[in-house]
Amino acid sequence: MIDQIDHIGIAVRSIAEARKLYEALGLAVTGIEEVPQEGVRVAMIACGASRIELLEPLSEDSPIARFLEKRGPGVHHLCLASNDVRSDDARLRDAGYQVLRPEPTRGAGGCWVQFVHPKSTGGVLLELSEGTEEAHRHA
Ligand code: ZN
Repeated sequence: MIDQIDHIGIAVRSIAEARKLYEALGLAVTGIEEVPQEGVRVAMIACGASRIELLEPLSEDSPIARFLEKRGPGVHHLCLASNDVRSDDARLRDAGYQVLRPEPTRGAGGCWVQFVHPKSTGGVLLELSEGTEEAHRHA
């Protein structure tokens, strides 16, 4: 089941540059983490009950580097917090939606994540994320 919007992922060329805007608004980066299996460095910015996730590519061949090349910086995905990502994953598969991975994998902050293809959602890359409260506060 889905609880709330967990975060909005934004593709950026440089976290150091992009974070300035949010810091000027009084928001704070709560953590920066590299996720090598995704080819990204991730900065989480707390924003009320939700968060903003800045995604910077770690290499030229990372999916975020390809996204930036094709579309430039901007909104990359919407993440919904799930309290059971495996069952939400199964429900979407049964309903014929196209998920990106054979099963949920570990993402930033140790959360379990699955992605739903934009072709299948009306143009939005959708992330489902299940994490501990700890992961949500600090990821
Ligand atoms: Zn995300």
